[in-house]
Amino acid sequence: VFVTFEGGDGAGKSTQIRFLARLLEDAGREVVRLREPGGTAVGEALRAVVLDPAHEAMSDRAELLIYEAARAQIVDEVIRPALGRGAAVLCDRFYDSTVAYQGCGRGLDGAFIDAANRFACDGVVPDATVLLVAPASAVRSRMGRREGADRLELAGDAFHSRVAVGFEQIAEADPARVRTVLSRVHRADTFRAVLEAVSPVLPE
Ligand code: C5P
Repeated sequence: VFVTFEGGDGAGKSTQIRFLARLLEDAGREVVRLREPGGTAVGEALRAVVLDPAHEAMSDRAELLIYEAARAQIVDEVIRPALGRGAAVLCDRFYDSTVAYQGCGRGLDGAFIDAANRFACDGVVPDATVLLVAPASAVRSRMGRREGADRLELAGDAFHSRVAVGFEQIAEADPARVRTVLSRVHRADTFRAVLEAVSPVLPE
């Protein structure tokens, strides 16, 4: 089973992935936890390039292609083999992030992005996607506690609002796959909602 987690920065995706991974591992399943961009040596190197605050000059088109390159690598090297041996693959961000960030955020052509996503994913599609949505104030306080903002976190509020609208549109367009979960004050409450959202695709 392949489950992806999407949403803005600071919505608590990594915590929820950890909770779900533990639950599945306790049930005896092999779990592969990934983050995108990253998850492979090539992908982590590309992540460092794309998030480096020194790379102010990076063009939007270059950024898009770096994300797609990292995605093609993680699909071939990790995700497809893991799904092939029956592992549960949990990924922090996948192609929906590109639609939201590079499409709605940067304003790059949506049809091209869809085609690039299909090329990079080569038929690998999540069984379920959890869109974690947090109130803006909660996000700011969580992000404030993080050290060293990356290049994208330094982008303005208008950019992040467009990204949030993008994620909403993705959820509306594909309700069978994408489930919106509101991030609660207590992580355990959020996790209950996450479990409810993904349980239809989880193995026994
Ligand atoms: O998932 P994480 O928060 O670690 O993502 C790293 C950064 O990359 C974030 O600042 C996110 O906004 C950005 N990003 C992006 N476009 C993507 C995926 C992530 O701008 N397609």
